[in-house]
Amino acid sequence: MQGRITQAVQAAGRDSDDVALIAVTKFFPLSDCQLLLEMGQVDFGESRDQEASEKIPDLRDWAQARGDNGTSDSRPFTTHFVGQVQSKKARSLARYVDVVHSVDRPKLVTALDRAVQHACEAGERSEGMGALIQVNFDSDAAADRGGVSPSEVPALAEKIARSDHLRLLGLMAVAPQGAQGQEAQEAFDSLAAACHDLKQVYPQANWMSAGMSGDLEEAINAGATHLRVGGAILGSRYPGR
Ligand SMILES: *Cc1c(COP(=O)(O)O)cnc(C)c1O
Repeated sequence: MQGRITQAVQAAGRDSDDVALIAVTKFFPLSDCQLLLEMGQVDFGESRDQEASEKIPDLRDWAQARGDNGTSDSRPFTTHFVGQVQSKKARSLARYVDVVHSVDRPKLVTALDRAVQHACEAGERSEGMGALIQVNFDSDAAADRGGVSPSEVPALAEKIARSDHLRLLGLMAVAPQGAQGQEAQEAFDSLAAACHDLKQVYPQANWMSAGMSGDLEEAINAGATHLRVGGAILGSRYPGR
């Protein structure tokens, strides 16, 4: 896995320090997360609140207990939420998510901003939440997996930037359904262009979240700063299939 990334980074003439690997642990048990953490993994991605709202706090408790033995610091990992978010889940996400990658509507910005404020007041978190806008490059509207069209990015970015508790970090995309090779490359190149435009206005919003098990080479080539990889690290989520 690390070999694939290293190769792609070199082929693209990039620096490996500029590409972070988020281990997407959805459908994988706490024990896998603990193993990854022990191996030095620091970025974890989840996509279902029902599962993550138990697993991540458990992982944090476990890591903190380890920290008491002098083996680790008290906040040794970052939690990324990469799945579609229902507004009614905002309050739950605010308890354990550090960075949300899938902001795709103004109403969700309002809900998350308020939820983070409540969580801070309740002592459940001490800082704001990082936020990325999910951009959709899928021409097939029926395959709706969230995301705004590139033309909708500026208005949503402004709303996040004006919020009190969200920090605009950049853009995220998933390659169109079934896209591989050249087609994935084109989607990620479009995302890179949108990231470039965003940075002209918000220089600190420099994340480009792209690349999964099947297309991380294309994403690295396009300039991705954060890969979201599950299967290629942890194996199939569906043994036997
Ligand atoms: C599941 C998921 C991933 C990881 O996918 P793999 O194919 O397992 O690498 C990345 N991004 C999102 C949004 C996901 O839902």
